[in-house]
Amino acid sequence: MSIKTIKVAQSRLPQVDFNNLPFGKIFSDHMLVADYIDGAWQPAEIVPFADISVSPSLSALHHAQAIFEGMKAFKNKAGEVIFFRMEDNYNRMNISAERMCMPAIPHEIFVDGLKQLVDLDRDWIPTGEGQALYLRPVMFSSDTAIGVKPSENYKLIIMTMPTGAYYLEPLKVWIETKYSRSALGGTGYAKAAGNYGGAMYPSKLAAQHGYHQLLWTDSINNEAIEESGSMNVMFVFDDVLVTPALHSSMLAGLTRDSILHIARDWGMKVEEREVTVTELLQKYKEGRVKEAFGVGTAANIAHIATIGHKDLVMELPPLSERTFANKMYDHLFAYKRGELTDNYGWLVKI
Ligand SMILES: *Cc1c(COP(=O)(O)O)cnc(C)c1O
Repeated sequence: MSIKTIKVAQSRLPQVDFNNLPFGKIFSDHMLVADYIDGAWQPAEIVPFADISVSPSLSALHHAQAIFEGMKAFKNKAGEVIFFRMEDNYNRMNISAERMCMPAIPHEIFVDGLKQLVDLDRDWIPTGEGQALYLRPVMFSSDTAIGVKPSENYKLIIMTMPTGAYYLEPLKVWIETKYSRSALGGTGYAKAAGNYGGAMYPSKLAAQHGYHQLLWTDSINNEAIEESGSMNVMFVFDDVLVTPALHSSMLAGLTRDSILHIARDWGMKVEEREVTVTELLQKYKEGRVKEAFGVGTAANIAHIATIGHKDLVMELPPLSERTFANKMYDHLFAYKRGELTDNYGWLVKI
């Protein structure tokens, strides 16, 4: 299906400095827009990236029926565009939509739409070390009436942006034991906009003490470690890769899932289970915390250098000793760039 396309009169590409790509600030020439009106998705359109005008009564602004996805496209040496796990992002967007009482997005709008959009802006895909085209679908309720009920109208926009590294230095993370990102039975497993708004205040408090990110704990006992900022978190204890088991207050990351698959195939011992703050402190004292890192699409693998908890500042081993995370970073990046055999069927090429 070919999507109606209105192209820019003049590309902004020549103005972009590909050696300096601040995350999420430089947008490619085009975006995809699709509206859900009167119970039906209308045909998507690809149009020049531009502001949209909304009513002050836009329901999403008041009651936050708003969800998003984060994914990446790459270019291989032959110049083909490669999408990494796009079907999984598509499925997760619809899981988020269901939780937020929003309509499912048709495959031809999301998947076929993305292919056409990225094909059109393929010259925007950067190919430098650590670079990719970041793809950001967002859907929000677009009724122009204030009333707490599911909106009848929705808008989906997919925008894309060339990006480089997300975190430029290893992270200092603070174990958060007062505020929660999400609760059991809440919306933590959905990429719902409100989850991120609610996380900002505790993150700001930690930033005032020099911490980049929080290590979120469960909302009942503040004891089980869940995620790090908006990434999943992994540890290497001795020689075992350990990550918190998923539940409803956690986002099922595709980077997490990809790393677990690859690590198991490398013959690494892998555990998905509860990881408590008490265990982490104990293992640290025993010198058994070899590596800690956040994993997510935007950041790839972000080494954690320091973990703070109350009066204790845990300094983890130097990055040069992080054998697993360093090797996995290179492997995953090469995989996404199409330089390895696609053993898991994760790549779509156009
Ligand atoms: C997006 C996200 C992740 C990582 O998911 P990926 O699919 O790996 O990008 C982890 N935690 C939260 C809260 C997220 O929003």
